[in-house]
Amino acid sequence: MSLRIAEIFGPTIQGEGALIGEPTVFVRAGGCDYRCVWCDSLHAVDTAFRHQWQKMSAQAVWDDVRALSGGQPLTVSLSGGNPAIQDFAPLIALGKAKGYRFACETQGSIARPWFADLDTLVLSPKPPSGGEVMDWAAFELCVAAAGARPKTVLKIVIFDEVDYAWAKDAASRYPDLPLYLQPGNPDVDPDHAVDLAACTDRLLWLVDKVTQDRWFTARVLPQLHVLIWGNKRGV
Ligand code: SF4
Repeated sequence: MSLRIAEIFGPTIQGEGALIGEPTVFVRAGGCDYRCVWCDSLHAVDTAFRHQWQKMSAQAVWDDVRALSGGQPLTVSLSGGNPAIQDFAPLIALGKAKGYRFACETQGSIARPWFADLDTLVLSPKPPSGGEVMDWAAFELCVAAAGARPKTVLKIVIFDEVDYAWAKDAASRYPDLPLYLQPGNPDVDPDHAVDLAACTDRLLWLVDKVTQDRWFTARVLPQLHVLIWGNKRGV
């Protein structure tokens, strides 16, 4: 069974959430069951880019990861698109046998048994501004599939007041999961320079909201890679 891969790159650092700053090789899966209006990974979502995706065996992906990392174990992040569409169990087995750690980020629409093999599962339910409707029953299946083995965390992107209220409700469903909030980035064009002052303003807005609400279980983080590299891909 081959994997549909949009890109493999690194080592770089994780720019978001629980593993922010951690040296990482990214394996970006091609294909997603969502079409969020502000998606920053359309090249791994829109079928218009399908011709750029590669069909690769788990062994071929692993060979690339090992070469990029120089054979030195680190964290491999399975991202997308939605990596849960595909079967990453063989890749995880290959890497774990050599001491690599695996993280996966998904919106939580498709549960996979291999979630239990991960070290970190980042469930990132999408707020209303994305234009998709969350299926909480499917999300629950994802939490259950992970079980107690990986560290499972919630990461929610927030663009506006409606998203903020929605995030509070979403987080209240899973009070035991560590929670990471991040302001949304409305300008995801890789050819546009990022407005860093606007990024800071959005971050300040979210920090003010969280602190004024005394929402002390939330951690608010920027997108570190956007601050460093803007919307450049493959970094
Ligand atoms: S779920 Fe993620 S990858 Fe898929 S369209 Fe939404 S933001 Fe993009």
